[in-house]
Amino acid sequence: MSMSFKALIVEDNREMACSLNMLLRTEDFEADIVTSGLEAQKALSSNPPDIILLDLGLPDMDGMKLLTNLRMWSSIPVVVVSGRLNVEQKVAALDAGADDYITKPFSPDELSARIRVAIRHKAPDMLVSHKYSVGDLEINYELFRVSVGGSDVGLTQSEFKIVALLGKNAGHVLTYDYLINQLWGPSAMGDNQILRVNMANIRRKIEKKPSSPRYIFTEVGVGYRMATEDTLAVENPK
Ligand code: CA
Repeated sequence: MSMSFKALIVEDNREMACSLNMLLRTEDFEADIVTSGLEAQKALSSNPPDIILLDLGLPDMDGMKLLTNLRMWSSIPVVVVSGRLNVEQKVAALDAGADDYITKPFSPDELSARIRVAIRHKAPDMLVSHKYSVGDLEINYELFRVSVGGSDVGLTQSEFKIVALLGKNAGHVLTYDYLINQLWGPSAMGDNQILRVNMANIRRKIEKKPSSPRYIFTEVGVGYRMATEDTLAVENPK
């Protein structure tokens, strides 16, 4: 069975593009490299890949513009790979439809974990699953129940909804505004305090050490990310 995925690397820095390419090959990806927005658009329409690694600083086009255009017609997973991203740029990339972002320098393990998550997230079997589990944590969407090591942690309705959303999007950052809008509607947006309080309670219930969480990570200034089995191994080295 051939499970080779095809990646498109959009990166004008040759050295960076080559090292990404080498990394992808060790992970059994076939990869094409393009070095401009125009080339990327051509490649995307003629031969769509399974995943795109996108640099935002392209010589002829803002990578964000490319992403926004792409999202009008395609849901191909996109991981933004960039040297420096401030909080606003991270939020903007996610809002524009990026599945994830990763900043240089990153470890090969980290990148391949992020890629696997981004691809798997678009696979249909995850959408119909009634459970999500990672490590000892299990979210049961039918019973509205979250357990750790088999015992119910007793979340409130809002707490459950937050964990459920993060679980459905495991491995992806959900922005503060997105979560607040989903839970309390647009009028509450910008008021991060209510979310922070809920998250503190969630962590007290699900994490062994709430101050260094294993299951739900804070992306400072951006949002929260639920761990996956892949990232659990990478982000919690023993
Ligand atoms: Ca660049």
